[in-house]
Amino acid sequence: MNVIIIGAGIMGTTFATLAKELAPDLDITILERLDGAGAGNSSAFWNAGTGHEANCELNYTPVDEEVISVEKALKIHAQFNVAKQFWAYLIEKGAIKDPKTFINQTKHCTIVSESAIEELRLRFKEMSGHHFFEHMRYSEDFDEIKSWIPYIMDERPRHEKMAATVIETGTDVNFGALTEQMAAHAVNDMGVKIEYGTHVKRVHKSPTGRWVIEAENKGKPVQHKADVLFVGAGGGAFPLLKKSHLPFRNRFTGFPVGGRFLQATISEEEARHYRAKTYGKAKVGAPPMSVPHLDLRVVNGKHYLLFGPFASFKPVLERGRGFFDYLSSIRLHDIPGLLNVILEHFPLVKYLVSETFKGEKSMLEELDSFAPGLSRKFDWKPIEAGQRVQIIKDGDLQMGTEILVSKDKTYGTLLGASPGASVSPEVMLRCLEQLLPSIFSKEDAKKKKHEIFPEDDLDTLISQPDRYREIRDAVNQKLGITRSEAQ
Ligand SMILES: Cc1cc2nc3c(=O)[nH]c(=O)nc-3n(C[C@H](O)[C@H](O)[C@H](O)COP(=O)(O)OP(=O)(O)OC[C@H]3O[C@@H](n4cnc5c(N)ncnc54)[C@H](O)[C@@H]3O)c2cc1C
Repeated sequence: MNVIIIGAGIMGTTFATLAKELAPDLDITILERLDGAGAGNSSAFWNAGTGHEANCELNYTPVDEEVISVEKALKIHAQFNVAKQFWAYLIEKGAIKDPKTFINQTKHCTIVSESAIEELRLRFKEMSGHHFFEHMRYSEDFDEIKSWIPYIMDERPRHEKMAATVIETGTDVNFGALTEQMAAHAVNDMGVKIEYGTHVKRVHKSPTGRWVIEAENKGKPVQHKADVLFVGAGGGAFPLLKKSHLPFRNRFTGFPVGGRFLQATISEEEARHYRAKTYGKAKVGAPPMSVPHLDLRVVNGKHYLLFGPFASFKPVLERGRGFFDYLSSIRLHDIPGLLNVILEHFPLVKYLVSETFKGEKSMLEELDSFAPGLSRKFDWKPIEAGQRVQIIKDGDLQMGTEILVSKDKTYGTLLGASPGASVSPEVMLRCLEQLLPSIFSKEDAKKKKHEIFPEDDLDTLISQPDRYREIRDAVNQKLGITRSEAQ
């Protein structure tokens, strides 16, 4: 059976690697429009590199009239644990030589000012009672918070009442470096083919039941055929779905949101001083993907601080692609849904438009209100981040991701953006189970799956503390994540 994957980002590359591990006989080709793997949204500075496991993001624990909901946080934490099992397997196998090339331990903190202290206290009380977050610590003590996240507290007046939580075993992940190494392993050791510089323009089903993939390589038309097609093309998945003639295509439209960060290069010593990712609280009316955070980033052995993201209204499918590309993915019947979203989420649209025109001075002011005095300490420059394309489904805006698989199980795709790269192995495993269920019935595949994922059942991880701790400690050791006895 031949499988074609469109897109060599973290999703497509993970899908290919996992599929080949479980079914080595599959003939797999990836078609990628750029010149390398992980060069789109997955590349190092196009995202924030947070290993999302709900340690610090307030938007994963919504509060409604003093009742906090932790279900989303538990699911994301369990999914990240499954992701770590996959990456630990790749290290053990020798596919990735050194975990530090892509994953680095970094404290995950949340900080809030006086108006949100009650919310953080409630969050801490709920979360620290669960084994996933048993090592979370909470403080309202100025000096203790300062010892966790000095750059945010150094120049803050002592009379400001703040509260914070910390988890020592969080991570900063360079998803681009991870994708590059996975792709090299898939090509060199597993027989996966990748054709770079190949932009897929259209996919359709031939009368024989195979998918025909029409693409362009350096301006020349090329054609491929596939028994099974997986579209892991980020925002580029929307126009391909629209042209696929699949019945569910009419239910989906893309809602693009751009982003920028402030970036500063720092020394290794400064990185030791602030070894953290600190998330705050989003402004009223701001979307969840614009929660402000100050992150230590480790990329190719160099250290950086990243602050943002500053969301923007940018009607393109992916960075580097034009407005008309996005326009061509919209059909007449999508327009009422789009208008509905614009009307229903008018404060969001207004917010995105106002953020688009924010200059460097306002960005630095925002940094200073998050971390007083930090704008003067380093040489900051604004950089473009990647492009999110959120899902509009049946006229409603959604913030998560969705796996779609055709009824005949020959076409699968992933739409949406969040929580994204962090949970890619778990999401791609579920996608494979839906798209290629036959491979999971073979004994060899069952054994291999268990070797890669000793525990992939999210409910077991959520409900069985001992099983979770056993897996967590084993994978953390392989990934170089440690906890000091003092905590
Ligand atoms: C500002 C921002 C911050 C983020 N922060 C985080 C974070 O902290 N943690 C986290 O886990 N996630 C984060 N994310 C999300 C994360 O970046 C994405 O979930 C992840 O990179 C998606 O991977 P992908 O493989 O689907 O997309 P991509 O990496 O974009 O890969 C898709 C690939 O498909 C190719 N392609 C598209 N169309 C075609 C076509 N027609 N033909 C051929 N090739 C095509 C593209 O060139 C690209 O290489 C963030 C995203 C943004 C935008």
